[in-house]
Amino acid sequence: MSAFPSRLAIYAGPKAVQNESKEIFKWPVVTAEDEAAVLEVLRRGGMSDTDVTQQFEKEFAAWQGVKYALGCNTGTAALHCAMFGCKIGVGDEIICPSITYWASALPCFSLGATVVFADIDPNTLCIDPSDIEHRITERTKAIIVVHYLGHPAEMEPILDIAARHNLKVIEDVSHAQGGLYKGKKVGTFGDVAAMSLMSGKSFAIGEAGILATNDLEIYERGIAFGHYSRFGEQIQTESLKPYIRLPLGGFKYRMHQLSSAMGRVQLKYYDQRCEEIRRAMNYFWDLLENVPGIKAHRTHRDSGSNMGGWYAARGIYLPEELGGLSIHRFVEAVRAEGTECSPGANKPLHLHPLLNTCDIYGHGKPTRIANSTRDLRQPYGSLPISEKIGTLTYSIPWFKKYLPDIIEQHAHAYRKVAENYKELLKDDPGNPPDLGGWHFYRQG
Ligand SMILES: *Cc1c(COP(=O)(O)O)cnc(C)c1O
Repeated sequence: MSAFPSRLAIYAGPKAVQNESKEIFKWPVVTAEDEAAVLEVLRRGGMSDTDVTQQFEKEFAAWQGVKYALGCNTGTAALHCAMFGCKIGVGDEIICPSITYWASALPCFSLGATVVFADIDPNTLCIDPSDIEHRITERTKAIIVVHYLGHPAEMEPILDIAARHNLKVIEDVSHAQGGLYKGKKVGTFGDVAAMSLMSGKSFAIGEAGILATNDLEIYERGIAFGHYSRFGEQIQTESLKPYIRLPLGGFKYRMHQLSSAMGRVQLKYYDQRCEEIRRAMNYFWDLLENVPGIKAHRTHRDSGSNMGGWYAARGIYLPEELGGLSIHRFVEAVRAEGTECSPGANKPLHLHPLLNTCDIYGHGKPTRIANSTRDLRQPYGSLPISEKIGTLTYSIPWFKKYLPDIIEQHAHAYRKVAENYKELLKDDPGNPPDLGGWHFYRQG
């Protein structure tokens, strides 16, 4: 790395990243095979059928390693079906990390249920297993686990808590499709997994989502809730049989077949493409090992766990190793070097007004506590790690290809800034109060 220039670009030095590469970031990879599959459906007018989707479900379930998969039009819909599948209903509580995309939690409101947020672990950025148990009440029905930014959550202690308290576990795998926890695929640990397959995710096939489970009743309740055209005589769950043909939820959640056609093709190459992503991302982090202020957000090498498709890659910021340099100034300097970097991730959900004051359904009180016997809202100060997410993390480039020369330039941008932090302290304006966003996709 010594061949690289060291004067910071923010002080008129040469940029660390000299070669732009669109190729390394391009995603999803769309080939003539995807195009042919989509065109076949389009030309025969099969967009609203379910034949291709049911093929995709079979292949997806086999790949995931579960008995049943149910294709939905969004990840949000798949999570909604999973919650209904687990019989989450009026007055029930779910426990969910505050740092996640809103759809991990919010669909519970329309079921008459509510959410209690748990804090995250500052290293994994996933739900902190030691912050769950004291939040369980006689109304708690399920724990929502999010494998956040590709990092698998600590499933062993979570499953142990769930078993002891007879709770369902719903895995939101929207950030980690195909990832491993201790050698086993994420999405196969809980009672049901639900995930987004929308264009911004690592498994990206348009607007789509999928539910995966070994539990026939959860699967059939998912069908009954939002898939009326498939809710017929073949249903085996007795309690559902009287209601076939109409959707119990009053929702229509069918997957668009232009997406499932693309999904069948993407699935064939997904593992191999993710392997290249992990090779590239691990190389980036290896280059930054032991650089002060910067810590990888990744699994340990010999743990049998991995980062899946490394969705929305981020690093952990350690300002105490950089004389207290603000993350704001840090990312400004990194960006000046010609690479991706912005502070924060999803903002803590427990602080948003929707979770505190909004009366969505006209209950005459906030929906969060509309069916509760206690005020379970969580004010500022109640989830300290989640509340610091804006200064704890920053985005890093999400490489899709192993191109060492390009990756080295981006890593050098980070190293250069960390090594020259003292210069940056001189004109550090400090952090603004608000960092990060409510969602990542083309957000304003
Ligand atoms: C994207 C996402 C969802 C929702 O998926 P959509 O397909 O956008 O509805 C749910 N949970 C998490 C964690 C997500 O990132």
